[in-house]
Amino acid sequence: MSPAAHHRARRVLVLGGGLSGTLAAAALAPHCDSVVIVERYTLPDAPVPRRGLPQARHAHMLWSGGADAIESLLPGTTALWTGAGARRISLPNGMVSLSPGGWYRRCWPEVQYLVSAGRDLIDWGIRTRLLEDPKVTVVPGTETLRLLGTATRITGAAVRRPDGTTEDLEADLVVDATGRGSRATRWLAALGVAEVPETVIDAGVTYASRRYRAPRVPEDWPVINVQADSRLPVPGKAATILPIEGSQWLVSVSGTRGGEPGGDEERFAEFTEQLRSPLIAQYLARAEPLGPVTVTRTTANRRRHFEKVRMPDGFLAIGDAATSLNPVYGHGMSVAAQSARALRDLAAQRDITAPGFARRAQRAIGRPAAAAWMLGADQDILFPGAEGRRPTLADRLAGRYVHRLIRTACSDLTVVRALTDVMTLQRGAGALARPGVLLAAARGPRLPALEGPALTPGEERVRDAPGRDTAYGSEAVPRH
Ligand SMILES: Cc1cc2nc3c(=O)[nH]c(=O)nc-3n(C[C@H](O)[C@H](O)[C@H](O)COP(=O)(O)OP(=O)(O)OC[C@H]3O[C@@H](n4cnc5c(N)ncnc54)[C@H](O)[C@@H]3O)c2cc1C
Repeated sequence: MSPAAHHRARRVLVLGGGLSGTLAAAALAPHCDSVVIVERYTLPDAPVPRRGLPQARHAHMLWSGGADAIESLLPGTTALWTGAGARRISLPNGMVSLSPGGWYRRCWPEVQYLVSAGRDLIDWGIRTRLLEDPKVTVVPGTETLRLLGTATRITGAAVRRPDGTTEDLEADLVVDATGRGSRATRWLAALGVAEVPETVIDAGVTYASRRYRAPRVPEDWPVINVQADSRLPVPGKAATILPIEGSQWLVSVSGTRGGEPGGDEERFAEFTEQLRSPLIAQYLARAEPLGPVTVTRTTANRRRHFEKVRMPDGFLAIGDAATSLNPVYGHGMSVAAQSARALRDLAAQRDITAPGFARRAQRAIGRPAAAAWMLGADQDILFPGAEGRRPTLADRLAGRYVHRLIRTACSDLTVVRALTDVMTLQRGAGALARPGVLLAAARGPRLPALEGPALTPGEERVRDAPGRDTAYGSEAVPRH
């Protein structure tokens, strides 16, 4: 018998065709014979809104830690994004930001970057590149109902087709990428798997977003961001203007428990007037609203610790299905991308059908999630009214150190570099404890705090213009 006749086709089944599902498919396709993605809704072949992705109406920042991971999984994706109007924004200078420690200066060399685009465009770019691979198939309009197999090996999933019929799809490896609302822990329990422990930290953040037609601004227009300060004894309120494709600004505001933004249009504008700076309200007065305000309250940090129980072979969870994060820190997509990259690296070393592969992969997937959890959830517990666990002395000391770092970063390149590397998930939080950074933090800010935002003359002119539309030339970033 020829070796080919011995070969048993290895099939991967991915549940959910969002960002994590498509990236997991990209990670595993080189290491199997076919990948089938089962998606509940239709996936459009253009960067347009779709069902199953309600969060796309809110601003999504893709940090370089995530964008680099996506590019390494699917080379050419960045070019698709920028070709369709996404912007690569240099950090820290491409962001006008009021941190809890004051306004950041904008006189530094590039440390990292972010991709500024609507979420529909980001997912479309990834999907388009993925579907060039003939090994990958999407089955749209098909809902996963339950897992097949036993408590020791998952062998596939039962699905409901668009015509209402059900079918069992067999696979050697099943990847749950059904997002925040995943029912995998229940499906596993039904097969006799031990209860998967969960950790939830909920600062009660509500998000509201609205699109605006941007006033006439140059291509290098910055991201504008006013952050909350967890040390103040009031609910945290924050907002971001993300310049996206189609000359639009996607504006997201958020408030922790007791300071939630509302859904109606007047209250949206009102909310931006209550931030720690009037800058966002001033810019919104220059822009034309497009469409309604969208609100979401599903923002709790939730970790499902699949790695802590004896999981069956042949199953793993990735992305929001495993760890969903408070969106304020903008880490969800980057964690999903880095998790998929870790999955690919493991699949390159080991047979994906071998006993123990899925458990190892789950641990590898958990590492980027744990790093982001430390940066976000462990800060969230410091907000008044946060639910989950009480902050410990160590949390409060860490919070104070991070605040000192942020204050120092307003005028110190060593700390700017470290914080930017960590925030973009290019380095772990350990980078904040390197000797040079500790020393700089002990020394404190080198320059007095800025009294207002570091704007270019052109950015000032847009802010101060009387009307809604204004034209001005591109000018260099100020050297404050
Ligand atoms: C308001 C808000 C703002 C955010 N801002 C940012 C940001 O700035 N930066 C950032 O990196 N992240 C941000 N995030 C997080 C980001 O949206 C998520 O981390 C990301 O979408 C996770 O992708 P996913 O593929 O795991 O899940 P999802 O994107 O939710 O995709 C899950 C997919 O599974 C499908 N599905 C669900 N159930 C089934 C089923 N039973 N059968 C078949 N298919 C199913 C769904 O239709 C969907 O297509 C934000 C989130 C929110 C809510």
